[in-house]
Amino acid sequence: MSTQTAQTPPGARQRTRSCATGLVCHRCGNRYPLQDSVFACPDCGKGLDVVYDYELAARYFEEVPSSERPRNIWHFEELLPIVDASAQARVGLHAGYTPLIKADRLGAELGLSNLYLKDDSTCRPSLSYKDRVVSMSVARLLERGKEEIGCVSTGNVGTAVAALAAKAGVDAYVFYPNRLEDMKARACAALGAKVCQVEGNYDEANRRCRELAEATGMDFANITLRPFYAEGAKTAAFEIVEQLEWRAPDHIVTAAAGGTLSSRLHKGLGELQLMGLSETEQTRIHIAQPSGCNPIATAILAEEAEVHPVTPETAAHSLAIGAPGDGYLVIDAVLKRGGTAGFASDPEIFAGIDLLASTEGILTEPAGGTTVAVLEKLVAAGRFAPDDTVVAIITGNGLKTLDDHPPKPWPAKIECELDAMLTALNELKSAGSLIDQARAQLHP
Ligand SMILES: [Zn+2]
Repeated sequence: MSTQTAQTPPGARQRTRSCATGLVCHRCGNRYPLQDSVFACPDCGKGLDVVYDYELAARYFEEVPSSERPRNIWHFEELLPIVDASAQARVGLHAGYTPLIKADRLGAELGLSNLYLKDDSTCRPSLSYKDRVVSMSVARLLERGKEEIGCVSTGNVGTAVAALAAKAGVDAYVFYPNRLEDMKARACAALGAKVCQVEGNYDEANRRCRELAEATGMDFANITLRPFYAEGAKTAAFEIVEQLEWRAPDHIVTAAAGGTLSSRLHKGLGELQLMGLSETEQTRIHIAQPSGCNPIATAILAEEAEVHPVTPETAAHSLAIGAPGDGYLVIDAVLKRGGTAGFASDPEIFAGIDLLASTEGILTEPAGGTTVAVLEKLVAAGRFAPDDTVVAIITGNGLKTLDDHPPKPWPAKIECELDAMLTALNELKSAGSLIDQARAQLHP
């Protein structure tokens, strides 16, 4: 970990190289000190963004070459908002720097010769991109000297909070809406979090958790710590560009729920450009949503500046956010970058999961299936040249959501005896393959 030890006076807490200078309102531009506990603008109610000294960040970045930096979320710590090195250390050094995989078999299936997958289904410690954002929340909580953290979650935020809070030695409270993948709640409890399921959908639970935070003073990872939480998402953009040897891709395709990831990919790409690390202006961002919860995609396709909330009805529970807090930022990011949006039905989402699994050996959850299904649609719509560099972000792992997959044909148990097994093997060989089933669903 690179820290400014040389500049730290004796007895002071060690500082990271963070170049964060304050918070600014997305809408009215009001500024607040980084130390303030505000998470929404007191004047206009909109969210707050962290601002940085980019000249200083560029200088720091030159001082320590990439090869000497940690291969984790803190690789670009200049552009992250955590200043206390001990908070950074306590939250753990595992998240981030996931593989960028050249997806030749999926690319051949789709007609793309330069398709890459940013595989956050392997993100540590809890197997989703949420480890990036929750790492910032928990580190910020520690900077504030607090020892309890709550969250409202469709699933993956909860498991990330449970795991990262356990590592940091703080108590975690996870509030789930009505519908979620059961394995995620069980994983939270197994990691030691206190879990509470509430009646109502995510948007209703989110509103009540905000009231709960105000009533108790307890910090919530994705509510009261949100400006810090959101900064973690930029690290995916930094890593993608560095892993492509500082050549930004032509396109990034990602699923959108609350809108944090896609809007901060835009911010992260802009920061790399500002610091002179890469030309990123040509990168288009495209978002994928389920047909049963597509308020951001609908607004983008209609070129509207604001999202109209919907009531979610989708098997992609981690994308079931009908009133996305960062929706307006996503619209801005996608339209400014000349990108677009698409959506996929539940059967198409599960076919997307199957196509990814059977071509690249990556088992993702419905959010990742949504990305793959919409990627296929964007190819069919002629959005990409065949040799464009396209990066699809696989945001979560399918092991947590297998219970929700449509059941696959499962052979009856047979005698453990050669003849019976030969017969069974021949039956298995004559059955259709998963890749054929996925093709039939996606190209009817
Ligand atoms: Zn404001």
